[in-house]
Amino acid sequence: MKKIVTIGEVLVEIMAEERGNGFLEPITLVGPFPSGAPAIFIDQVAKLGQPCGIISAVGPDDFGTVNVERLKADGVDVSAIAVIPDAVTGSAFVRYREDGNRNFIFNIRQSACGQVSLDQGAEKMLREADHLHVMGSSLFSDNIVTLIRAAIGQVKEKGGTVSFDPNIRKEMLDFPGMREALVHIFENADIFLPSGEELFLFTEAKEEEAAIAEILTRGTKAVVIKRGAEGASYFDTSGETRVPAFAVEEIDPTGAGDSFGATFVTFWLRGVSPEDALLMANASGARAVGVKGPMSGTSTGAELQDFIERHKGIRA
Ligand code: ATP
Ligand code: MG
Repeated sequence: MKKIVTIGEVLVEIMAEERGNGFLEPITLVGPFPSGAPAIFIDQVAKLGQPCGIISAVGPDDFGTVNVERLKADGVDVSAIAVIPDAVTGSAFVRYREDGNRNFIFNIRQSACGQVSLDQGAEKMLREADHLHVMGSSLFSDNIVTLIRAAIGQVKEKGGTVSFDPNIRKEMLDFPGMREALVHIFENADIFLPSGEELFLFTEAKEEEAAIAEILTRGTKAVVIKRGAEGASYFDTSGETRVPAFAVEEIDPTGAGDSFGATFVTFWLRGVSPEDALLMANASGARAVGVKGPMSGTSTGAELQDFIERHKGIRA
């Protein structure tokens, strides 16, 4: 089986219990929950029984332990998560606003994950990797951008594949060099997994069909568009495969895109048809939105099969 590797932030998420406008008065918080887009992604890959690992860093503290133990228990190779003395594990405090948007206080760039490096553990993991997944959210410092570019070079050189979920926060687009880094990763990705406006990040075209056509002429083998409650589509040069979402109540959208992407990439690497891979990925996304907590909604293959059985005929 192919080994999937990702690089990026491991952090804890601490959530406000009630909705509101931020953190200007004392409120009830719940957490820490293991989190970080690449961490959620790789946890979902592991739960499907695929060999996988993450290159990251934490501090020698309980927040780091919460994450590492969780990933390890689910089957992720954690040998390339460095524990950095004198550094603190990344964190995000989040509060939902009344309109459902999220308001964050992040400690990522200044945390242990700001000091990730291609040390021996990371180099070994890259040698074992058949596939590298990159999250736009992980491009939070020059250091990690350089590292991700090097990792892409190594994996591609030995015939491996790359997937890219732009998953970028708006304020990150203004970082110096960010645009160029994104374009480089995009141009090296075999699968591109945008949602919403992210489809147009690299295109002249401003409309879906033309944007897809443009992307497929630039070396990308496949585009997977995540459409939230509308499901998802897969495009390659032979056309579109669209699969509707499952009808579920949205409790917490955090992690849906990451779980979806992990499930899609895993089944794609196993050679499953785009339609079946989308069905599994939609089930994975739907299960993720149905539970509170960023990594609480990751699923095993058996849980996905069972969910699909129970929801037959009641697609959204
Ligand atoms: P994220 O907010 O995690 O970055 P995203 O924007 O990358 O998410 P979405 O399209 O929101 O991705 O969600 C990914 C997938 O999860 C969807 O394609 C769909 O399969 C499933 N999903 C998301 N929201 C819902 C929903 N409300 N009902 C059913 N399925 C959903
Ligand atoms: Mg997303």
